[in-house]
Amino acid sequence: MGKLPDYDAVVVGGGPAGSTAACMLAGFGHRVALLEKQAYPREKVCGGCLSQKSIQFLDRIFHLPLPALRQEGLIDSVGAGYALYIGSRRVLAGDLPEPFYFTRRDRYDACLARKAADAGAEIHEGAEVVAVDHDRRTVTTSDGDRYTARTIIGADGIHSRVRRSLPAGVVDPVRWRENLGWALELAIPRDEVEVLAIDDGAIPVCNDLSTPHLVLDVCRWGYGWVFPNREAIVVGIGGLLEKNRKDLPDRFREFLATVGLAAFADRKPAGYPLSFGNYIASPAYGGTLLVGDAGGFASPLLGEGIFYAHRTAELAAHAVDRHLTSGASPGETYTALLGRRLTPELRAEAALRDFLYRSLDGRVPVPLTTFMKVTRSRVIDAVQGSRSFRGFRRDDDLHSAVW
Ligand SMILES: Cc1cc2nc3c(=O)[nH]c(=O)nc-3n(C[C@H](O)[C@H](O)[C@H](O)COP(=O)(O)OP(=O)(O)OC[C@H]3O[C@@H](n4cnc5c(N)ncnc54)[C@H](O)[C@@H]3O)c2cc1C
Repeated sequence: MGKLPDYDAVVVGGGPAGSTAACMLAGFGHRVALLEKQAYPREKVCGGCLSQKSIQFLDRIFHLPLPALRQEGLIDSVGAGYALYIGSRRVLAGDLPEPFYFTRRDRYDACLARKAADAGAEIHEGAEVVAVDHDRRTVTTSDGDRYTARTIIGADGIHSRVRRSLPAGVVDPVRWRENLGWALELAIPRDEVEVLAIDDGAIPVCNDLSTPHLVLDVCRWGYGWVFPNREAIVVGIGGLLEKNRKDLPDRFREFLATVGLAAFADRKPAGYPLSFGNYIASPAYGGTLLVGDAGGFASPLLGEGIFYAHRTAELAAHAVDRHLTSGASPGETYTALLGRRLTPELRAEAALRDFLYRSLDGRVPVPLTTFMKVTRSRVIDAVQGSRSFRGFRRDDDLHSAVW
């Protein structure tokens, strides 16, 4: 008899997606190894904004209701209101029915990996996967260690080695490239902002360092944000890479000046790719499944990716569990679950993104401000997760139902 695989599942990457998959599969009673190339706590370039659908997910899957999130130190700040600008013109502002929360990814990701370990997953830090043999279902790390498993979950982020090692045909490179975003982000310590910010920017954020600001028209097919966290003010811009090829750094400096933070224009922002509608509809090959950023899963409208990392990993964990218990094809089950539970939403959100940015480009002659005012509460509900982007109908099970 041949050697049995070491594990039921090897999860490559320990961000929100990887920890979710590992935690759930270990909870189902399977043998799971999670391989993370860095050591916790590790940084991840991210605004750390958690919508209500993420907050509900953390309660439902990790048993971390809001008081527990606070106790674990995962809630850095709360955005009870918002302000939305087109250029320097404020078009919408107000209180939110339910707040957005802001977390620090070093703490967030370390906590969720710990939860996966508590559920029984083996966590291997400093284990960088450098080769993947999909047919033999084996991964090899930079130390030469080999792990065989009945399934491989690629949760290794936007640069995913698991994705890049898949045969041609799984990923449509043109669609991926056309919908890939790029972001620049700078975290400025709050005390420095309080001293050095000037209120002569067209948007004087320093007068209101408690409200998250979103600003359209600071780059093409993308937006700028100012997220006021407890210790730092996080300023960023992100948009489709193909539409902003060379000039994103210039647009970022202009944005700093617009929000009264020109004093920080000589600081180097972190640059990072951003999933922005480049999701793969069938991200599977044999026993390998891609989840989270590795599969391009994030909101096509905002680039919000934490929830989609969690949710795709949840669906993948169910598909793997079904494979391990009944032999069903994990790829077929996962693709069917995505088709039923996620990709229709992403398609509808991408259509809204296209409408919004075509309007800003002047190619759809609509009074955009009026459209935004009329739809704002429904769009906010859809981002928070209580409405569907398809027709904005109310749907409280949208992000919790699986089968
Ligand atoms: C500037 C910016 C701001 C953002 N702001 C927000 C926001 O406010 N809210 C939001 O919801 N989303 C935001 N996002 C998106 C969000 O950060 C991602 O969608 C999310 O982190 C995806 O989670 P993941 O688990 O798929 O991947 P990641 O969080 O990238 O985790 C991947 C993990 O895999 C590990 N890894 C990589 N390669 C290997 C390897 N070869 N072997 C082993 N391990 C490996 C990495 O070290 C990492 O720990 C933002 C993104 C950017 C770029």
